[in-house]
Amino acid sequence: MTEPGRPSAGEDPVAWLESLLCAPEHRDNPLLPALEVLLARDREQRARLERLLRISDCSHDVARSHTQELLQQYDKQLRRLEKITRISDRYQQNLLELNERLRQAALRDPLTGLANRRLLMARLQEEQERQRRTGEVFSLAMLDVDHFKRINDAFGHDAGDQVLCRMAGAIERQLRRYDLCARWGGEEFLILLPATPLAQARQMAERVMTAVREISLADIDEAIALTASIGLVQWRPDEGIDGTIQRADSALIQAKRNGRDRLQMAPS
Ligand code: GH3
Ligand code: MG
Ligand code: MG
Repeated sequence: MTEPGRPSAGEDPVAWLESLLCAPEHRDNPLLPALEVLLARDREQRARLERLLRISDCSHDVARSHTQELLQQYDKQLRRLEKITRISDRYQQNLLELNERLRQAALRDPLTGLANRRLLMARLQEEQERQRRTGEVFSLAMLDVDHFKRINDAFGHDAGDQVLCRMAGAIERQLRRYDLCARWGGEEFLILLPATPLAQARQMAERVMTAVREISLADIDEAIALTASIGLVQWRPDEGIDGTIQRADSALIQAKRNGRDRLQMAPS
């Protein structure tokens, strides 16, 4: 129920005031002009307030959509960055693999996969230093295929290559994990036997020669008999590596002179 002189519950006070000003009983009220001025000012203030609220809502919307746009751009950049990181990781992995392959290629003989001269020389240096410290000795076997040129001449260079690969396999199968066989030259192999005195090295070299004789070449020709000669030497603590290799080579030449398919030990 409306109390006289007060707006009813929930009624807009401005609407209430307007209805009072329009009522015929208040037409002569001296406060009427002043109230009308106040009412007009109130309308004006409200309109201004609404305008401000609209502007504020509007700038809030702009700020929100701007933030959203920035977030989307950020997400996009993040995805791009992740992609670039993945590509860069892949490149780095490829480079590492390539590096490893290059390192291998620099130390391996491409035909047989055996160590090359460079790797063998590095291992010989290490062995020399290690064995000087421990007092042990190493032995070297210089192996050369007998009459290899005849195989090339009779069956071609490719067949010769195949024989060299089988030689490499046959030699390696006779060696221990820490021995090293290198392809020294065309059909010459140098075998390093660490911590191995001459007597023990001799047994290993003879096993290698037997393995060479047993290589099957039936697919190339039934009649080929493959043999090798070996010059065997034990390292002397007072000599350089070149000197040891030189003595192995001289022993090999002697083995060839003595008729091939044999082992010649260098004098200690
Ligand atoms: P010897 O018993 O005196 O050692 O006689 P040999 O015929 O084995 O020795 P020689 O030095 O006369 O000939 C070696 C041949 O090895 C000549 C060369 O063409 C051949 N050779 C060298 N490297 C390779 C190679 O990588 N592949 C092939 N197929 N042949 C090679
Ligand atoms: Mg030869
Ligand atoms: Mg030779």
